[in-house]
Amino acid sequence: MQALRGTQDILPEDAYKWNYMESAIRRLCSCYGYGEIRTPMFEATELFQRGIGDTTDVVTKEMYTFTDRGGRSITLRPENTASAVRAYLEHKLYGDQQVHKLFYIGSMFRYDRPQAGRYREFHQFGVEVLGADSPAADAEVIALAYTLFRELGLKDLVLHVNSIGCGKCRPVYRQKLIEYFHEREDKLCDLCRERLEKNPLRVLDCKEEGCRAASVDAPKITDYLCEECQAKFEALQKYLTALGIPFELDPRLVRGLDYYTNTAFEIQYTPLGAQSAICGGGRYDGLVEEIGGPHTPSVGFAVGLERLLLALEMQGLIPAPVRPRHVYIAALGEDAVAEGIRIQQQLRADGVRADMDLQGRSLKGQMKQAGKSGADYAVIIGENELAAGEAAVKSMADGTQENIPFENVPKYIADKESGVK
Ligand code: AMP
Repeated sequence: MQALRGTQDILPEDAYKWNYMESAIRRLCSCYGYGEIRTPMFEATELFQRGIGDTTDVVTKEMYTFTDRGGRSITLRPENTASAVRAYLEHKLYGDQQVHKLFYIGSMFRYDRPQAGRYREFHQFGVEVLGADSPAADAEVIALAYTLFRELGLKDLVLHVNSIGCGKCRPVYRQKLIEYFHEREDKLCDLCRERLEKNPLRVLDCKEEGCRAASVDAPKITDYLCEECQAKFEALQKYLTALGIPFELDPRLVRGLDYYTNTAFEIQYTPLGAQSAICGGGRYDGLVEEIGGPHTPSVGFAVGLERLLLALEMQGLIPAPVRPRHVYIAALGEDAVAEGIRIQQQLRADGVRADMDLQGRSLKGQMKQAGKSGADYAVIIGENELAAGEAAVKSMADGTQENIPFENVPKYIADKESGVK
């Protein structure tokens, strides 16, 4: 049996890297005042159809949808924003008229074509600011993502920003876009031809070669923004400049999910090649209403953690894991093992890594194991030691050895480590 295509195991030698990223995320989110939210891995399919949009690639091609034994249509979450909004409504968090700042870390599922940086189960860290209208909120979430990457040491990041307008100005642009693509319909993929009338913006985001080529001279949304959207977009740029965050305007950036309004942004790490977007997000002022709640202007982003990890590894930015002191206790016979276990328990309580044989090895075999395991000390309890009530404590670094009464072993090791003679 093998893990399914597009999924992967994270073994102990890599898991610490994930913990490293996640600790940095939690530390930063706490400074920015974001509270963690954990939502279920699966939801009613309708939530994503309504939230993400039923002409998007995610909904039309990529969802893991099944009927459960009760006949309900269920979908493994392909992203977390719709679920976070569902939870926000279900628990009436809007009731206090406050801005709610949430973050999440977890698995998402998309039936995508697996390749480096693209998986079927992948992990995202994301934030959602619900109930905030000001472009300062857009600047804050961008700053949070940017600061995270900078704190982790990543260089060569490029922030792309765009405004994709609102319900007032986008229809005019939509019409222009439909006209433009109608003239090039033969170049579009089947799906884009089909969704052109309903959602022409999707063509701009399509990954098919023909659609990309046909989009090159497409009209730009930024030429059609209404006064209000233009003012918000300018304010965002002013705030980013004040924060010292460099950005590039990218009028073709529309993002793959239908719920975005106004700000859309992406942070790219170009050495990752085709999957260079490590973070994508934007404003979604209409989503909460779409899911049945009150008007709640909101903004957020999601970071692909596999891609972030690839980028960190490419730049050698993951520090070696902190290694606790390490003791191997070699004991032979039940009585010796009982003494060993007692010492092991105390050492562990003191924060020392303490290993013992669990495979019935000889004392010689256990000592070999102690060497292999990279332990700093071996604590040896053979027949003679058991009779004397003292363990032989051997420094694996220099081979020196001393006999220490059983009950003093943990303190002896602690003193040695802190340099006490
Ligand atoms: P999205 O939720 O589509 O806005 O994507 C946000 C971020 O999630 C992207 O910028 C990627 O870093 C990451 N991401 C999206 N889809 C995948 C995938 N199939 N595999 C790995 N990472 C992904």
